[in-house]
Amino acid sequence: FREVRLILGDQLNASHSWFKEEDTEHVLFVLFEMRQETDYVTHHRQKVLAFFAAMRAFADAMGTIHNVLYMRLDSDENQHNLKENIHAVLNHVNAKKFSYQEPDEYRLDIQLNSLDLDPEISIACVSSEHFFTQRDDLIRYFPKLDRRAKAESLAQTQTLLMETFYRQIRKETGYLMEGNKPEGGKWNYDQENRNKLPDSQTLPDPLIFANDVRHIEAVLNKAEIKTLGTANSERLLWPISRRQSRELLRHFVQKALPHFGVYQDAMSERCWTLFHSRLSFSLNTKMLHPREVIEAAIQGFRDNPNDISIAQVEGFVRQILGWREYVRMIYWQFMPDYKATNYFEHKRDLPAFFWTGKTKMRCLQHSIQQSLDYAYAHHIQRLMVTGNFALLAGIAPEQVNTWYLGIYIDAVEWVELPNTHGMSQFADGGLLASKPYVSSGNYLQKMGHYCTSCEYDVKQKTGPKSCPLNSLYWHFIDRNLKHFKNNHRMHMIVNQWEKRSDSDRKAVLEQADTWLLNLENI
Ligand code: FAD
Repeated sequence: FREVRLILGDQLNASHSWFKEEDTEHVLFVLFEMRQETDYVTHHRQKVLAFFAAMRAFADAMGTIHNVLYMRLDSDENQHNLKENIHAVLNHVNAKKFSYQEPDEYRLDIQLNSLDLDPEISIACVSSEHFFTQRDDLIRYFPKLDRRAKAESLAQTQTLLMETFYRQIRKETGYLMEGNKPEGGKWNYDQENRNKLPDSQTLPDPLIFANDVRHIEAVLNKAEIKTLGTANSERLLWPISRRQSRELLRHFVQKALPHFGVYQDAMSERCWTLFHSRLSFSLNTKMLHPREVIEAAIQGFRDNPNDISIAQVEGFVRQILGWREYVRMIYWQFMPDYKATNYFEHKRDLPAFFWTGKTKMRCLQHSIQQSLDYAYAHHIQRLMVTGNFALLAGIAPEQVNTWYLGIYIDAVEWVELPNTHGMSQFADGGLLASKPYVSSGNYLQKMGHYCTSCEYDVKQKTGPKSCPLNSLYWHFIDRNLKHFKNNHRMHMIVNQWEKRSDSDRKAVLEQADTWLLNLENI
């Protein structure tokens, strides 16, 4: 072979121009299952199974037309390290060129930038052709950004609002635009999109697959790969091919998009998927292109304007065209320093119940158990249940990141880190969010039904039966007053706290201290 081309596990893009070239008979495409990937964090069992199953399905499909070398986890030749595997393959086939697609993760970028190949071998890095924006595009959307500034110091002077970027990318792509104006007259329908799920609302049955991946599970068992959560390897429910991913997309547009926006923030124990798409795994492995997902949603809206309103489709487009692209630019602009920031200097350990779901707080218990069962929680469960609790309790962001990076089916660092470290834990000091996403039990009661079956009482502020979030919330405000004095979005809250009597504040803080001393048993 003249050339070896690497395909990483999250680069399963069959529409890449690599596969459209005609004379690829001298090209060898390689994919590796490696311990460096199964072991850099403890992943959910379903995540490892789904990644390997999707990689194998991709290699099989591509192998009917192209030369593909697929190195399995149990192959004798496998060095389990990306650099070493690349060296070994290049030596073996005597290729003079090595090509790879731009990786999305920093740790892989470092590896691929330091391959140290024989000088006779040329190296080419090409685009993954997946995103609307480039890795280093943040400066294009925020021209006043100091290119060299580190995340935490920059956050003191500037919040890089997603909305600023979103409006520009809407104009650039023309999605939901009428000339230079947003379709329907508004850029953002968030205000209409914050409803609690009424008991009378029927829910669509989730489309789940039944992929038999027992052969992969056997390999994981033999290699003693450490995982978390549970999996039914006879019937893995996640899409592992482009065909299944497209089926899930169609199902979403027909059944869930009509109510996507309106119940986007709702929490319910009635169904784990609600009106969410669960397309993040297919998107993050690149089995689906964001363009086709956005266009399918917009087409659904055009075809069924009576069922799907602009507020629903705009809410969905914003997540993918807005948030998803934006967090990737943040990640690439500020890594590797980004990961090391710890604005509130939080140091506590993540309680063990994050791995077992064994806690008396119903909201946490349900969201964690669901995550262990399905490798999935929707955005508000991640942000306002587990994330909110970790932030109020002062858990070390590094431990919070590790948990999120492992547990979710869609967790790849470029998207997990800005969401967890920045949006949820405010560890970057407010670069991404203009104020911390925190709440007392009140918000949970307003948006969900957890409180009705909880051992704690959301109405009580103090005492052994009081909802722990109620006092932890004020403890968080109180211990970080110095940080909030200059944040105008926090003024009202700070004023509310300072107006309370000394004895009232003391009681609340004492209650919070009791919880903090006993976090493991909360
Ligand atoms: P839907 O609600 O149906 O949304 C549609 C799509 O929009 C998603 O598939 C996703 O591609 C995109 N999207 C929505 N919100 C975001 C966002 N904030 N950032 C980037 N893309 C978004 N998303 C991941 O893909 N991987 C992660 O590791 C991840 N970690 C997160 C950690 C925390 C603490 C939080 C608060 C959010 C995280 N998110 C992550 C974002 C979001 O929660 C998930 O994308 C979403 O829940 C996936 O489920 P879904 O496909 O049903 O999404």
